[in-house]
Amino acid sequence: MNRIVILGGGESGAGAAVLAKLKGFDVFLSDLSEIKPNYKNLLNEYGIEWEEKQHTEEKILNAAEIIKSPGIPDKAPLIKKLHAQGTPVISEIEFAGRYTNAKMICITGSNGKTTTTMLTYHILKNSGLRVGLAGNVGNSLALQVATENFEYYVVELSSFQLDGMTEFKADIAVLLNITPDHLDRYDYNFQNYVDSKFRITQNQTKDDTFIFWENDPVIKAELAKRNIQSTMYPFAIERNEKTKAFIENDELIINTLKTIFTMPQTELAIQGLHNTYNSMAAGLTATVLNVKKESIRASLMDFQGVEHRLEYVATVRNVRYINDSKATNVNSCWYALQSIKTPTVLILGGTDKGNDYSEIEELVNEKVTSLIFMGVDNTALMAFFKDKVANIVEVKSMEDAVAEAYKIAKSGETVLLSPCCASFDLFKNYEDRGRQFKTCVRNL
Ligand code: ADP
Repeated sequence: MNRIVILGGGESGAGAAVLAKLKGFDVFLSDLSEIKPNYKNLLNEYGIEWEEKQHTEEKILNAAEIIKSPGIPDKAPLIKKLHAQGTPVISEIEFAGRYTNAKMICITGSNGKTTTTMLTYHILKNSGLRVGLAGNVGNSLALQVATENFEYYVVELSSFQLDGMTEFKADIAVLLNITPDHLDRYDYNFQNYVDSKFRITQNQTKDDTFIFWENDPVIKAELAKRNIQSTMYPFAIERNEKTKAFIENDELIINTLKTIFTMPQTELAIQGLHNTYNSMAAGLTATVLNVKKESIRASLMDFQGVEHRLEYVATVRNVRYINDSKATNVNSCWYALQSIKTPTVLILGGTDKGNDYSEIEELVNEKVTSLIFMGVDNTALMAFFKDKVANIVEVKSMEDAVAEAYKIAKSGETVLLSPCCASFDLFKNYEDRGRQFKTCVRNL
């Protein structure tokens, strides 16, 4: 029996183990950290052998194939050893893709993946399609392939997942944008990261769909170099001859030759320029799948948004509080600031990933009255902003950040948490950071 070893016992690893077991492989799962109880239970339920807090090499190096969690870098010594001995290392998505004929709608980009994935899923589900939600959100694709019978999947893919994919093909590939992120995992070479994102189009033929932001400079340059066969559906604010979704007279228009869809931009449930792009990508996907126009329109209007993404929390003494804790890089903070119409008190900081704050300098000048740096080490932020913004406050906890914001913000202003940074210095993760923000605001 072929041996499959799964490295990482989180959502994707546990799901892959179940699918592999059901397909008759000799399965072993190994995780260097502790495995969460719910995943241990799942593995036990299917009689899958596993270990935690260690990697026993004799039980791993003898695998015919390895399924690696996207969280484990290629630089990890064990992965290097596996590569050196020629063992194939794939991702859970690649593995799951072998066992389903469902249509795959795959969404990637540096920012906007989760929002667009959830919105696309919302539209397709409401239209009555049998559709699953997978990838970075929801249950793993592998577990659903093992236990469900969906006809479509909407899959959020990070570059790390794409790195472990070779034969997999997206029927509809969506590439929202490419800006520098995670460069530590790509040898600080931006092109490696770009190549990883472009894997979303690999194996596509002219019968497959490629939806992308037409004005993204990186995507544009890359398309000029590559010979992509897919049928292209570019979106942009301004139409040119090939654009399939655009804005005209304040209307969102999707024009695919087969059909023309229009709706007033003001009726979109999620507002802001970035969300207009996300709505275009989701609307194009649904149009390509022949979802009825009324159904697309209704779903674009009643989508609830996603927690921690420009999430409205409350208005206290005529100051609006917005939780954008998921903004873990500078580009997403740019879009958040761009979407806010009032003077703003901006809370930012955390674990700096080598950020270049010049990207938000202009918007900070234009809109931000005060900056609140919330982090263990605010040196980089201070160095950049100290001569540029008059009022800067430093804090080391969410309570203090919200208390300071409350003192500073004037009636009619907005307090925005959009940190530009990872959260691990003061919080468990960005969800914890966002929830603490909401709790503190609601306690004001
Ligand atoms: P991801 O899953 O790619 O991290 P999310 O949908 O979780 O993306 O959004 C993360 C942050 O990025 C949000 O806080 C939002 O401010 C910003 N954002 C969302 N969509 C876009 C977009 N299309 N372009 C740029 N920034 C975006």
